[in-house]
Amino acid sequence: MINRRHIITSLIAAPLLWSSAAAVAQDGGKLPVVASFSIVGDFVREIGGERIALMVIVGPGGDGHVYSPTPQDAKTLAAAKLIVINGLKFEGWMDRLIKASGAKGQVIAATQGIKTRNVPHRHGHRDHHGHNHSGQADPHAWQSVANAKRYAANIRNGLIAADPAGKAEYEKNAAAYLARLDALDKDIKSVFETIPKERRTLITSHDAFGYFGPAYGFRLISPVGVSTESEASAKDIALIIREIKRRKASAVFMENVSDPRLVKRIADETGAKIGGTLYSDALTTKDGAAPDYITMMRHNAKTIADALK
Ligand code: ZN
Repeated sequence: MINRRHIITSLIAAPLLWSSAAAVAQDGGKLPVVASFSIVGDFVREIGGERIALMVIVGPGGDGHVYSPTPQDAKTLAAAKLIVINGLKFEGWMDRLIKASGAKGQVIAATQGIKTRNVPHRHGHRDHHGHNHSGQADPHAWQSVANAKRYAANIRNGLIAADPAGKAEYEKNAAAYLARLDALDKDIKSVFETIPKERRTLITSHDAFGYFGPAYGFRLISPVGVSTESEASAKDIALIIREIKRRKASAVFMENVSDPRLVKRIADETGAKIGGTLYSDALTTKDGAAPDYITMMRHNAKTIADALK
C-alpha cells in the first residue's frame, strides 16, 4: 500500500507541475470545478451545466469515506476555481488534500445549513483507526430529498460567487433541478404509501439512511456504523439479529459501497430475504442502476417498496 503522507510530501516538493494542469483545465473558457464524490458531482453537473468543466475525485462506485488521494487529484484541485465537498467529515481525506495541493479556489460544503442528525451512540463501536463516531453529525444528508434541495441551493450560490457572469444560467438550471427534486420527493412518498407502518423497517449494512428513515417513515437497523471504515463486532451482529427477529423484519438490503457478506449472513440467520441492492454513497456508471441522484433515489425507493410490500 502506498503511504498517503509520502504522496502529499512529494506534491509539496513539486509545485511547478500544477500550473500546467491549471492551464489545461481552464481551456475552453469553462469554469474549472472539482467535486469530491459522485453524488455531489451530479448536483454540480446539473446546476453548472455548460458553463463548467467538472472533475469528480471519487467517481462512480467509489467510496467517498475512504479514499487515497493521488498526485493527479492535487493537480486537479490546484486548478479549480470552486471546490464542492459534502462536508460533515464525510470526506475525511479532503481537508488535507486541499491544503497540500495549494488550491486557491473557493471551497464550499454542500451540506451547509442542513439540520443534521447525530450518529446514535453505540457502546464500544470503533472504526479501524480507533475512532468512535458516536455523537458526530451524520454526513449522509443527501439521502433525504429535502436536504438535496439545500445541496442544490448551496451549489448554485457557490457557482454564482465563483462565476458572477453565469448568475442567470445557474439560477435557471437550479430552478429546473429544484422542481425535479420536488417531483422526486412526491413520487418517493407515493411509492411507499402502500407499505404498512409495521413493515417499515430498513436493514442495511452501514448506517447511511439516517436521513432517509425519518423523511419517509422507516425505522433503521444497521450493523456497521456511519462510516464504511467501521467493522461490526460479534456483539453488534448478535444484537441486530435479535432485533430483526423481534420486529419480524422481512427483508435486508445490500449496498453498493459495502461488503455484502454481512447482510447475507444476517439474512441466513434471521430468515429475512435479501431485498436487493441500495445505492447509498455512490452513483453507478451510465449503464448502471444509479447513474444520477434522481435515478438512484427512484431505484432505492422501488427496491425497498418491492421487498417490503
Ligand atoms: Zn456512508
